[in-house]
Amino acid sequence: MEIRLHGRGGQGGVTCAKILASAYARLGKSVQTFGDYASERSGAPIRAYTRVSDGEITNRNKVYHPDHLLVLHPSLLGADVIQRLANGGMLVVNSPTAISHEGSIFAPFHLATVDATAIARRHGIGTRSVVIVNTTIAGAYAKLLEMDLKLLEQVYLDLGFSSNFAAAKEAYEQVKLSPAIVDSIDSAPSKSQKRVVSPSTLEEPGVRPLVEHTDGAHTGLKTGTWRTQTPVYVQNLAPCNAWCPAGNDAIEFVQVAGRDGAEAAAQILGATTPFAGTCGRVCPAPCMEGCNRVELDGAVNIRGLERWIADRAPVAMVHKKHQDHPKRIAIVGGGPAGLSAAYFLASQGHRPEIYEGEAELGGVLRTGIPTYRLPREVLDQEIQGILNLGVKVHCGEFFSKAKLQELVQNFDGVILSTGLQWLRPLVIPGSDLTGIEQGIHYLHKLNMGQTADAQLSGTVVVLGGGNTAMDCARSALRNGAEKVIVAYRRTEQEMPAIREEIHAAHEEGIEFHFLRQPVGFFGESGVSGIQLAECDLGEPDESGRRRPVVSERVQKLECNHVLLALGQGSELSIFPTGWELNEERIHDGSIPINAWGSGDFATGDGTVTHAIGSGRRVAGLVLKELGEDVEVFERPPRENAVPASVVRMDHFDRSEPSFDRSIAVAERFETSPEVNQGLADASEADRCFSCGHCTNCDTCLVFCPEGIIRRQPEGTGLETCPVHQQADYGYSYDIDLTYCKGCGICVTECPRGAIEMKAR
Ligand code: SF4
Ligand code: SF4
Ligand code: SF4
Repeated sequence: MEIRLHGRGGQGGVTCAKILASAYARLGKSVQTFGDYASERSGAPIRAYTRVSDGEITNRNKVYHPDHLLVLHPSLLGADVIQRLANGGMLVVNSPTAISHEGSIFAPFHLATVDATAIARRHGIGTRSVVIVNTTIAGAYAKLLEMDLKLLEQVYLDLGFSSNFAAAKEAYEQVKLSPAIVDSIDSAPSKSQKRVVSPSTLEEPGVRPLVEHTDGAHTGLKTGTWRTQTPVYVQNLAPCNAWCPAGNDAIEFVQVAGRDGAEAAAQILGATTPFAGTCGRVCPAPCMEGCNRVELDGAVNIRGLERWIADRAPVAMVHKKHQDHPKRIAIVGGGPAGLSAAYFLASQGHRPEIYEGEAELGGVLRTGIPTYRLPREVLDQEIQGILNLGVKVHCGEFFSKAKLQELVQNFDGVILSTGLQWLRPLVIPGSDLTGIEQGIHYLHKLNMGQTADAQLSGTVVVLGGGNTAMDCARSALRNGAEKVIVAYRRTEQEMPAIREEIHAAHEEGIEFHFLRQPVGFFGESGVSGIQLAECDLGEPDESGRRRPVVSERVQKLECNHVLLALGQGSELSIFPTGWELNEERIHDGSIPINAWGSGDFATGDGTVTHAIGSGRRVAGLVLKELGEDVEVFERPPRENAVPASVVRMDHFDRSEPSFDRSIAVAERFETSPEVNQGLADASEADRCFSCGHCTNCDTCLVFCPEGIIRRQPEGTGLETCPVHQQADYGYSYDIDLTYCKGCGICVTECPRGAIEMKAR
């Protein structure tokens, strides 16, 4: 049922429509109500609308065919106002006198009059000159629709109009139906009744469904000349993209996974990384830290989706370029940075050769990360994808300085990506006792098949709070340790390890001793205990975390093994005399040579994902230096990303994130299977806000008060919004600037920051 109200500015017509909607809402109906006016002053004609339905209301048009019509000022009553009122429709007029009904243009309608102005004036509603009749005439309407007066009273209470209820009650009692038809009313009018032909000579505008119209019904007044700012469709940087160190197009692969499936999404990933299956398992996911959805109900599980894609459609470079004169690039170190560099060089048609000291490629992915986190089939498959592009490999060859100089002479370019070879030692009393070992060495033994040597027993203490510490602790539990204790000098909040890894360690029964600093070991033939000093948290250090201050309070802890996971650094002793690393470029003295550093070796960032981004970037730098026309990957500044404050959270339903599935704790130890089983499906992608990227949601179109945003068929306006081209929606948007006043409502209402106001 549709109700239209005609009033004059100041009479409260929009509020009256709201009162009617509230009354129907109390009766359990769906309602919609809104006004239709702009900057009208007091006295100017305005319209307001209320829709009532048993079901969902999806139509957001103005009411063109009302079932009921309320006229709040008698001077407005005319043929144009009653046009398209349903035959038998209710016409309620605020009038001091009865209106002639029979034989008039009002004959087809139920006509009722009430002197709402006099009643409202008596009750002091409004001023002497501007009487506010809304609450009064609503009372008359309620009577005609046989609403319970008590219900109306409750509505007035809810809306804060209790003091106006007496006037409404008076109108309820005084409203008069035209005598000619009083007897014929037995039910509410409905649209199924035949409509009368409008007595009006006015043409009805050709109204089309809201999202399909291409022709507006504008007035001749070209209000666009008032504008000082112009709305422009844009594509802004999504935080997930800004935060991914590998430079993955996270927003795109997330949405394509949800919309088009794994195969299509794998192609997007393949353009930036050869290691989606690996990162989908072991990346600390800074993209999720930056995700704007954190502000509503939890980050989109981007890492889980990346893995979901790679598990179903392994990523691979789809197109390999051809080069007539390919460049030969030597890469020293076959870890994630070196492999990533090789991937991009080979895909550009060049000839990378990897020199790796271990027997197999993979670097820390193979030697450092336990198989229960990264199954070797996954790693091997991704490495094979790189080699398939035509990468030559020399394994089992550690490097001398002379060999390095030879490479520089024999190749067009050399990339050094030997990772973090330096391990932070712990020099305290007793640290040379047997049973104390670097965690990295322990994981290397375990992962490279020396499992007998990696068997532990009794209590194992792991020192550190990063991912290596978690890997050591959880591996120790799988390899003979009866009890594992992690001692860390700060609190759990400051631990740099991935949150899920810390959670899994807790689940598996690992004990944590926070705010503890090792100050000595004791034992006879081997370590039998550790002395841990309690720490207090002091002022923040350069990392922003509060500095642990070691106290005199020392605790002794008995143990059988200690694994050190205190941090790593680059090992530059590989350099011949005179060589220096200057950012990513290697210099001999002050002269840059054709050698670059990449990954942890150059940056010390310490994550697989940073290493992938660095490998890609350095591959670009090398090619650029060699005169190739390539784009060098630059990480976009995070501050350029769409902030959460721009996202209109109220446009989105709350929904909890989908987390990766894990196998039960009891099943984790016997054969050490992969613990994380990933996401069951890609529905998590639906939670993405699409920050800064238009989704053709039509919100701007619907909210534009001028009705001048229109869908534009493909090929006519796409240049204003690049995302439309990518997503192949088949249409873009066009704003008719002749009538755009520059109010900016489209920008305010866009849920995702994909339209901006620019100075005219
Ligand atoms: S909501 Fe979507 S687009 Fe926005 S940051 Fe998160 S994943 Fe990226
Ligand atoms: S690689 Fe890591 S940071 Fe980048 S999108 Fe994947 S999970 Fe996010
Ligand atoms: S409101 Fe919707 S259609 Fe309009 S720019 Fe924003 S995302 Fe695109």
